[in-house]
Amino acid sequence: MSETTTRVAVFGAGTMGHGIAQVCAAAGFAVQVCDPSEAAREKGLAGVRASLDRMVAKAKLSAEQRDAALGRIGWGGDVGAAVDGADVVVEAVPERVELKRELLQRVDALAPATALLGSNTSSLSITELGAALRDPSRLVGLHFFNPVPVMELLEIVRGVRTAEAAVDRALAFAAALGKTPIVVRDMPGFATSRLGVALGAEAIRMLEQGVASAEDIDRAMELGYRHPMGPLRLTDLVGLDVRLAILDHLHREVGEQFRAPPLLRQMVRAGKLGKKSGEGFYKW
Ligand code: NAD
Repeated sequence: MSETTTRVAVFGAGTMGHGIAQVCAAAGFAVQVCDPSEAAREKGLAGVRASLDRMVAKAKLSAEQRDAALGRIGWGGDVGAAVDGADVVVEAVPERVELKRELLQRVDALAPATALLGSNTSSLSITELGAALRDPSRLVGLHFFNPVPVMELLEIVRGVRTAEAAVDRALAFAAALGKTPIVVRDMPGFATSRLGVALGAEAIRMLEQGVASAEDIDRAMELGYRHPMGPLRLTDLVGLDVRLAILDHLHREVGEQFRAPPLLRQMVRAGKLGKKSGEGFYKW
């Protein structure tokens, strides 16, 4: 795909969008980032620059490569201009179904009919996002992980109406970005979020039952199972509110095993959201 794909449009310059733009530019693609917020675009650019600078400092990239990558990214707020001539479009706007559907509909109307459309949603149904499109067969889930330049996985989600050719193009895109893909069916929580919150929720229930301290529950997984980080510390990093929202969604869609532990709900109500609020299962 690297020979044929030259243009990538990324919607959203936030945490995920700017990281996706960076890896695409580093892979040699011409990137257009579209975000209506000028402040978000400036922050996104600063984020890309800081990340590339760190790679130069670690001698993973030359200063010339950094400058070339920065030069391949354009920033703007116009949807039509962003998708002009795009081969791949990735949306990384906030996790709200209406917002994503509306944006994808506009992209579907304005982007070249041959463009692959990808959504970075962490939990929403690709089938549902695609339902309003003229051509839902070209929509796939392209679920990147945070921080995008560091995390190796790309979870590719196949909606009910996603074409096999779109999955093949997504696999080629992953390869061009140096990511390792997995392909999953469009089921709630895909593979990653479903397993991730299952472990996190069980760890919280164990804490509720006084099985061990938060530190020791985390240590059990870190030292006993070689997880780089225990499930409670990871919940603090992801955000307790984010994990609660995923659990509530999976509880509705999959069943009882995903009922959120009362302790998690209480902590969210108390504003203990993890690292971003200064306190979760740990003090930050
Ligand atoms: P974020 O809030 O950091 O960034 C979202 C950006 O989208 C903001 O800059 C906002 O201005 C912009 N935006 C809003 N409406 C827009 C529109 N119509 N067009 C273009 N841009 C628009 O959010 P994020 O954390 O980067 O998450 C984005 C998506 O990625 C969500 O679907 C989320 O579930 C998913 N995701 C997040 C993570 C994570 O760790 N943060 C990991 C995997 C997937």
